[in-house]
Amino acid sequence: MKKILQDLSFEELENLILSYGEKKFRAQQIYGAVMRGKKLSEINVSAELRGRLCEEFENEPIVIEQTFTSSDGTEKYLFRLADGNLIEGVFMKYKYGNTQCVSTQVGCRMGCKFCASTLGGLVRNLTAGEILCQVLAINALHGGTDKNRAVTNLVLMGSGEPLDNYDNVIKFLRNVTAEGGINISARNISLSTCGLVPKIYALAEENIPLNLTISLHQTTDEGRARTMPVAKKYSIDEILKACGYYFEKTGRRYIFEYSLIAGENCEKEHADGLISLLKGKPCHVNLIRLNEVKERNLNTVTEKQAYRFLGLLEKGGLSATLRRQIGADIGGACGQLRASRLKEQKEDKNNGNSDIR
Ligand code: SAH
Repeated sequence: MKKILQDLSFEELENLILSYGEKKFRAQQIYGAVMRGKKLSEINVSAELRGRLCEEFENEPIVIEQTFTSSDGTEKYLFRLADGNLIEGVFMKYKYGNTQCVSTQVGCRMGCKFCASTLGGLVRNLTAGEILCQVLAINALHGGTDKNRAVTNLVLMGSGEPLDNYDNVIKFLRNVTAEGGINISARNISLSTCGLVPKIYALAEENIPLNLTISLHQTTDEGRARTMPVAKKYSIDEILKACGYYFEKTGRRYIFEYSLIAGENCEKEHADGLISLLKGKPCHVNLIRLNEVKERNLNTVTEKQAYRFLGLLEKGGLSATLRRQIGADIGGACGQLRASRLKEQKEDKNNGNSDIR
């Protein structure tokens, strides 16, 4: 694989262009084109400079391979990386703006039992530029530019554990929020983690005021360990302390994700558990009805059960919402699309069909 130009900050790009013996303003021109989602071969500079860039860097680090549109307007994409790996992303339209869900790794090694992204383990980390290119591509697809964005909000909730790819994710966050670039405000970015405690402390020191989101899904360490192996390493108590530190440092309220799984975590005792863990803390609880993954033997709850659980939390004084379920008809949950595509490829191979496209 060639290098990825979108990994570079503007300053790094400027140094590169100067090292080529080119004028400084060329860097601005190239940066602007890249931020508008252009391929390197489409940048309007001399053929010589374009040729040099294309020789050294990937022309198009990610390609939108397929788009699926849900009846509710949500779009889901399968992206192909330069090395042939597949990742996925989602674009959701809300009243206040448009949110894109990005992936941070190919696969995942966290092993959560309800999640499709982790089925085949971790393949590799994405580079900062590969994460940024997802945003640039979808912004351009929807007619956005660097100055007039079609993507206004980001959630790092696609495939992968962002804090398990810490350095690349931080670099991505700096580049996507940089003034002069696509410049998405950190306040409009949510980073979701299964709870890698030392990395939460590190994130608090980075001075990036994003929304920290923790995948909690249970109220006791034993219960949590049943579906989330990471719970054996870090306790809920340690996670809550790290969140408290994050709030102290950034002044940002944190969010807990709680996916409702039938028979696992949605009885009154669980609501009481959440209330005693979280009451009085500067946090919000986001309930989600489990998106059933066919490789996994876990079931979702009815809407009525979900609202009952929400009611219990509210009565107990927690700030909580039930997230509208969107995109369920297009494999909306983490990793479902890629998993089904990989399965198709395997079946095709077994049928002696090597042309997987
Ligand atoms: N690795 C990060 C980000 C991944 S996914 C994390 O664990 O937070 C974003 C959210 O979707 C997480 O809360 C994750 O637990 C949840 N999730 C994954 N698969 C799901 C499914 N099938 N149904 C509902 N929520 C799911």
